[in-house]
Amino acid sequence: MIIVPYIKYYSTNHKSEEVSFREALLKGLAPDGGLYMPSSFPTLNSEEMERMPEQEYSDIAFTVLEKIIGNDIGKEDLKSICNDAYDFEVPLENVTGRMNILRLDRGPTASFKDFAARMMSRLMHYYISRDNHRLTILTATSGDTGSAVANAFYGLSNINVVILFPLDEVSLIQRKQMTTLGKNITVIGIDCKFDDCQQLVKTAFRDPLLNHLPLSSANSINTGRLLPQSVYYFFAWSRLGKGIHDKVIFSVPSGNFGNLMGGLIAKKMGLPVKRLVISTNANNEVPQFLKTGVYRSINPSINCISSAMNVGHPSNLSRIVALYNGIMNEKGEIIRQPDLLRMREDLAGISVSDEDTKKTIEETYSRYRIVLEPHGAVAWRGLEEYLKLHKEEAGNLSVSLETAHPAKFPDEIKQIIGTDPVLPESLSGITDKEESYLTLENNYEKLRDLLKNY
Ligand SMILES: *Cc1c(COP(=O)(O)O)cnc(C)c1O
Repeated sequence: MIIVPYIKYYSTNHKSEEVSFREALLKGLAPDGGLYMPSSFPTLNSEEMERMPEQEYSDIAFTVLEKIIGNDIGKEDLKSICNDAYDFEVPLENVTGRMNILRLDRGPTASFKDFAARMMSRLMHYYISRDNHRLTILTATSGDTGSAVANAFYGLSNINVVILFPLDEVSLIQRKQMTTLGKNITVIGIDCKFDDCQQLVKTAFRDPLLNHLPLSSANSINTGRLLPQSVYYFFAWSRLGKGIHDKVIFSVPSGNFGNLMGGLIAKKMGLPVKRLVISTNANNEVPQFLKTGVYRSINPSINCISSAMNVGHPSNLSRIVALYNGIMNEKGEIIRQPDLLRMREDLAGISVSDEDTKKTIEETYSRYRIVLEPHGAVAWRGLEEYLKLHKEEAGNLSVSLETAHPAKFPDEIKQIIGTDPVLPESLSGITDKEESYLTLENNYEKLRDLLKNY
């Protein structure tokens, strides 16, 4: 029998104790304000990798996740959670030559965030049911997280969910995906930007007056969201029909960098990754950091059409810094500089303007009849630009991640390509549904009062 190592999770601020996966999952944020990270990354062996082309997505999820949370959950339990969470298709489309698009938009909320949220909610439900506990999930969303989280937790026993969103930064469909559920899901619109919503959540987690609440977060700072996002990188590789020695370039449309962290974890666990291209909109603080070694957050963040990526200070950046032996605190200050040379070997940063994003949606449609939405278009454009700059890598296989369904952005798409994107089943009829949500000003005391009485 192979003993699966018991992986501990440390805080990126290094001032809290290491904890088990279960604790990292249920706590969300470490007591010192840092984010939890696995202290080691077990690698998959070649046999496990070679089996993947014949496996379903849910089997690959089990193989990968068992490695990293292994001892902390029953094997059969994890298997059935994977089967239950991943029952939708994940198409890999060849576009041209060696360039491909992975569509992560076929889950119940038509966003890639379903991959993380569905696994995390089921893992949390598993642990609290086992321990007979209750939980209140408090999370901030720039659109897609909220709907994915709301849908993932909807109807689960002993869990209440409170979701904060910036009133003006969320599309009608995104809002309706959260506000039409009811039951254990409470949604609050706040008159502020996404970064402010996130700050409110962070403040609540540090507030001693809320200590009595069993609070947990479900946004991209939670470890339970991070790990499942490494799985689709393995899946994409397995569908390319290549061996372990063919290294793949991935282009990742990035906002809070949870998706990108998933790619880095996959690489750490043995996936043959040539490079991860960080594709951002005009919020280019990380590409700049990569280039100059100086980090400057963008405050307030810039409004772009790829709205889920309008992030001026990505919450997962301290994790990326930690992977390269650096320390970044929760304010975004670098306490210890990461190994920039190694970072540049693994990562490349490309920032894409709104103008080029629209042009890309138009071009991919007229050239290949492929419909992209703004986030996927940023990634595709980033990949194209990267390959232009690195002609020597044209022989590598590449995968651009499409993170939302085009039908979630009907106005933009119609305006650019002239036809309406086809609505996936999960979204049809949603605009006619009745909504219910609270509104609040950007004031922490008001939020605290509301949570205290919750
Ligand atoms: C959240 C989101 C992103 C950004 O993902 P991060 O993990 O925050 O970098 C990109 N595209 C869409 C559609 C999203 O919802």
